[in-house]
Amino acid sequence: MRQLGMVLFALAVFGGAAWGWWPRGHGVLTHAAVQALPPDMPSFFRDGAGMVAHVAVDPDVAKNRGTLHLERAGHPIHYFNMELFEARDLPASRYAFARRCAELDKKPEQVGLLPYATAEYTEQLALAFAEYRKWPKNVYIQTKCLIYAGYVAHFAQEICQPLNLTIHWNGRVVDGKPSRTRMHEKIDGLLQNLDLKPEAIVAGLTAAPVDSLMAGIVAQMHARFKEVDHALSMAQYLVPKDVDWKHEPAVRAFAEAQAKHATRFTVSLYLTAWKMSEKIKLPGWIDRREMDQGQ
Ligand SMILES: [Zn+2]
Repeated sequence: MRQLGMVLFALAVFGGAAWGWWPRGHGVLTHAAVQALPPDMPSFFRDGAGMVAHVAVDPDVAKNRGTLHLERAGHPIHYFNMELFEARDLPASRYAFARRCAELDKKPEQVGLLPYATAEYTEQLALAFAEYRKWPKNVYIQTKCLIYAGYVAHFAQEICQPLNLTIHWNGRVVDGKPSRTRMHEKIDGLLQNLDLKPEAIVAGLTAAPVDSLMAGIVAQMHARFKEVDHALSMAQYLVPKDVDWKHEPAVRAFAEAQAKHATRFTVSLYLTAWKMSEKIKLPGWIDRREMDQGQ
């Protein structure tokens, strides 16, 4: 979700009956992703869908004016405006990225930091998996794997919402002016409003780890960016008040395709983290068995 404040405002003004735009969408996608994991993934992880899906909403919960530093720091990690930065050669760190933005006379928060948040949390999960491999019975380690996996889910799924990747994020911008279609929240809400089920999303879905983490993330962003026009074209059904879009096959087909992309990419990053964890060398000063007495 890109503009939670805006959605809350919309709910307040237009009397939305219940909380649940993207947050429940993330939940459905994350349940689907954990269900789609292959049987050779650890069983604690395959059994942990509830916890992972719970945490998958937290990056949006963090957009709270009562926690100003977190809100300000976190806002740009939910998007990346592909039109503003040639993303084929993303620098390895946020700091190098900020310097490159300065050279281009742009601000990092104008472009967005979504690929960095995605890569960083995937690596955090890879580290937790590496600890799990060494201390497989430690419940604390298992719990943190599920928590980091929730963050990975959120950002993997943000990459797969095409309107998180474009300056036309809330409807097409013409002559410097955004349209008033409020398309972002309409697309964000599709999975919830169409009541997609994890079982339907998972059917026939296969996923593989990426060879190189950031290159895989950038490739996924390019693939999903190609669907910006398709997403914006949904305005013909979602904007007019007299269209029964919930029964429009084109809208359902679009939503189901996005849900599959998002689930597949979430699984792909879980498998990537698991594969990375095989080669990660933990420092000698960590001894979880001694530190976590009783685990
Ligand atoms: Zn978000």
